[in-house]
Amino acid sequence: MKRVPPAPRPRARRATRTADSASGAGTGRRGAGAVAPERFDPGCTRCPRLAAFLAAARVSHPGYHARPVPAFGVARPGLLVIGLAPGFHGANRTGRPFTGDYAGVLLYATLHAHGFASRAVADDPADGLELHDCRITNAARCVPPANKPLPAEVRSCAGYLAADLAAVREGGVLLVLGRVSHEATLRALGLRPRDFPFAHGAEHSLPDGRRLLASYHCSRYNTQTGVLTPAMFDAVVGRARDLLDGR
Ligand code: SF4
Repeated sequence: MKRVPPAPRPRARRATRTADSASGAGTGRRGAGAVAPERFDPGCTRCPRLAAFLAAARVSHPGYHARPVPAFGVARPGLLVIGLAPGFHGANRTGRPFTGDYAGVLLYATLHAHGFASRAVADDPADGLELHDCRITNAARCVPPANKPLPAEVRSCAGYLAADLAAVREGGVLLVLGRVSHEATLRALGLRPRDFPFAHGAEHSLPDGRRLLASYHCSRYNTQTGVLTPAMFDAVVGRARDLLDGR
């Protein structure tokens, strides 16, 4: 793991959303430039391109969830995993992050190996899987065409991400999967991505005392091309476990 020293305090940036005390705001950990937490709206259609894509998906795939996908896991986690966006035939189908497609295979197996999940396999929201001290969310809650949310769509979703970030307990760990999630997380916290550079295995101390761990995304492409091996991913999740256990 690459250890990176703490970065300077963020410059001020105006909060862009209305605070929601029920979603974790008011914890006193938000910086001046942070996005205010926003209660998740399961019927959100704020992004016109994604709303249209989902409307079409509900017609072409009537059995699919095909709506914004809520975060999954405990309400006040030690570990928050931040993915990119639902996969069309995974979370967009089942309604639970990383459930039912290839991207979840390595994620849940590794979370299970380190005690964060009750099962190694996540194929259906009714599978009984529970997360332990862990929550999984996405930078964008709606499936995007070609798995690529636009920057404006990630920004539009930042209030929901901020709510999950605010819920992470003191001394917790944020595990970002991929550069887009990394930058979305930092911006939601009011921090500058250039002060906390992305690299696989990078580890940053955040001004609020929590830790940010970065990994390549556990997508089918990355795992099948060897960009991300099980050993590489295991090392990052294992580091999260060590941090939470005070090692
Ligand atoms: S990506 Fe987020 S902000 Fe945009 S429509 Fe979906 S839930 Fe709403």
